[in-house]
Amino acid sequence: MNDNPTCPVCSNQSWDNRGHRTYHRADRQRGARPYRNAMEVLFDVWAPGQDAFRVEFIACRNCGFLTYSPRPTADDIARKYRHTPSDSAQDAPAATAALSRQDVRRARRLTRLILGETKAKSTRGLRVLDFGGGDGRMLGGLVDRGALCHLVDYSERVHPGVTKIGDTEHDIPADANYDVIICSHVVEHLPDPRETLAALRDALAPDGIIYVEVPIEVVGQLPAAHEPVTHLNFFTPDSLRALLAFAGYGVNWSRLVAEPHPWGYKQLCAGAVATPAAIAPEDVPVSGLDFLEPYLDGAYAVRAKRRWVLGLEKPDMLRKGLRKLPILWRYS
Ligand SMILES: [Zn+2]
Repeated sequence: MNDNPTCPVCSNQSWDNRGHRTYHRADRQRGARPYRNAMEVLFDVWAPGQDAFRVEFIACRNCGFLTYSPRPTADDIARKYRHTPSDSAQDAPAATAALSRQDVRRARRLTRLILGETKAKSTRGLRVLDFGGGDGRMLGGLVDRGALCHLVDYSERVHPGVTKIGDTEHDIPADANYDVIICSHVVEHLPDPRETLAALRDALAPDGIIYVEVPIEVVGQLPAAHEPVTHLNFFTPDSLRALLAFAGYGVNWSRLVAEPHPWGYKQLCAGAVATPAAIAPEDVPVSGLDFLEPYLDGAYAVRAKRRWVLGLEKPDMLRKGLRKLPILWRYS
């Protein structure tokens, strides 16, 4: 664990302290299985011998990136995945099942988005890589339209029509030349998100696009409040834009999006589309804490969430009746 982290987005070391939380060893016995797994990693792998573990939530004064300290190193993250199977490996039983209704919705949304963003006249032969895409099930719509779909993830099972090329970015061939790379709900887990995105840039064709999506977890509260093991990077659309720029991309857009979550509600996320276009680090526009404050403050964030999540979900809610209301309320 690194007590004195450097911002993995902009390399600054000027942090604004936004609060703290202490986790307790006894919590390993409580709660749902994913929470207990996370607490096990925290107290058996990252902080063995400690009964309590305090983290400070810190925001980069330069780029608005949010994390916590002590921050896990790349080695800590590797040890976490050795201790508990990777997220996708844990999902293996589900991966063998047919696509759920939410999966179908997510795949449709992704297909629409890619079709809209790519300038290719046809998807036939379009070279697509899903980086960290589990078993590649989100690529079904693009496979059906004749795209050549590749996958990088730890998952052993692969969706029909998709070709797995390896586990990590290091397995991508040096001559890779993708038209589209999808990196959805991956960046929040990475010890060095800028380095990984820079490696993906090298695998893109010069006019290729990358779609990056991350959950918004700073809505009126500190992120990672529940457990600090699953996610270690927290973004707003503006800090996601900065991350892509520092990783060597020109950003076409970065904004709030609402993504159907596997559990049945819509999740507020930041999504961005970018193309390879290196600019000097000193020329990357950064917003500091300006665009983070409103999210942490709450009122703005709750409004944004109502608009993006509940607003878009409304017809669905009416159709499904009150059954779904408690869970939507919880996330509003
Ligand atoms: Zn920074």
